[in-house]
Amino acid sequence: QDSIVIVGAGQAGAQVAQSLRQGGHAGSIRLIGEEAHPPYQRPPLSKKFLAGETDAEGLWLRPAAFYETQSVDLLTGSEVAAIDRDGHAVVLSTGERVPYDKLVLATGTRARRIPVPGADLAGILTLRSIADVDRIRSALAAQERLAVIGAGYIGLEVAAVARAMGKTVTVIEAQDRVLKRVVSPVISAFYEALHRSKGVDLRLDTGLSGLEGAEGAVTGVRLADGSLVPAGLVLMAVGAEPNDALAEAAGLETDNGILVDGGGQTSDPDIYAAGDCTRFFLPRYDRSVRLESVQNAIDQAKVVAQSILGQEVDYDPLPWFWSDQYHVKLQIAGLSEGYDEVVTVGEPAEDKFYVAYLQKGRLIAVDSINSPRSHMMARKAIGEPWRADLLPAAA
Ligand code: FAD
Repeated sequence: QDSIVIVGAGQAGAQVAQSLRQGGHAGSIRLIGEEAHPPYQRPPLSKKFLAGETDAEGLWLRPAAFYETQSVDLLTGSEVAAIDRDGHAVVLSTGERVPYDKLVLATGTRARRIPVPGADLAGILTLRSIADVDRIRSALAAQERLAVIGAGYIGLEVAAVARAMGKTVTVIEAQDRVLKRVVSPVISAFYEALHRSKGVDLRLDTGLSGLEGAEGAVTGVRLADGSLVPAGLVLMAVGAEPNDALAEAAGLETDNGILVDGGGQTSDPDIYAAGDCTRFFLPRYDRSVRLESVQNAIDQAKVVAQSILGQEVDYDPLPWFWSDQYHVKLQIAGLSEGYDEVVTVGEPAEDKFYVAYLQKGRLIAVDSINSPRSHMMARKAIGEPWRADLLPAAA
């Protein structure tokens, strides 16, 4: 039986290990991760975990005993520094070599940082890991003023938690609306009103000129118009970049993500990849995508395990996602990019509605606000010609 090495002990890496065992793989499985923790869920990091409603152990994807009972050799605190494809081994940063027959890359993403003057001051943080949240939480305990750069999901979720803690929160966004990359103007307007009603100072269409500090620590954000937003803590929440450098250095095909086929295989037949670090062709939407979601991490990991076990698979998922801010749950089914028409059903003023995105009369995506039933039905209805009775009224 093949020995399998998985690099990256996150959502996708843990799922590959579990699915390989469930599928009957009897050879060795080594799951190597650079973080100190066993695989854990990231979505609560900017929600319940930041709010202090769960501890780190509450985030673990599987109990510690799982790795022992399933004979998964979990190496935490171990960074893979290189892949030696000819020698069929990965090289750890300690120099140790770990041989493989099949290798899986599940290295995820890292938070992007924008190179503005002052970006190296203390108190400018990003959010991707438990360690990041520990730093943000201790900074929040000492600081009254938080500035968030970037009104994407993570920035807005952190703003919501910080407001609930009573902090003064300013969100600075270069675009003219929040979540612009992913949702329609109706949803953006809803979230802008929501955050403003909760006391967030939301600055749209606002450029940065730099970060200001005193004695090495940040004191504020200087905006392009010359004004200053005072802040003792700045969260840079400006998106993520795939961890594809290992793959690229080993000569695998990458393009803002490790390129994989419908079976999760890279340009080297003995190397697979899954999760946030991959880019692949999604037949359902007829384009190449890199998805950053739990759905993709889990489903693509299962596909990789099946491929390694010798099954024919062609990955064509329906992407879905969610975000929790205050009392509002957003659930997204499908990808809305490329829509030519939107239909709003329900009442934004009552915090319960959905937006159907159509392209040439077909339903391509649905954003549901506090309407879980509509979301579940939308997952089945995507691809159908739109009719008024396709989904129930926001429910
Ligand atoms: P990860 O879970 O990031 O795991 C990758 C692991 O690989 C990391 O532990 C990393 O340290 C490790 N690694 C990288 N390089 C190496 C190396 N060279 N050697 C060893 N280890 C390495 N998704 C949703 O669907 N809904 C949400 O509400 C949501 N909220 C989120 C909130 C936050 C704050 C964040 C950060 C993400 C959120 N996501 C959400 C996204 C979701 O968490 C990711 O899509 C998912 O974790 C991807 O899984 P992954 O296994 O590909 O990567």
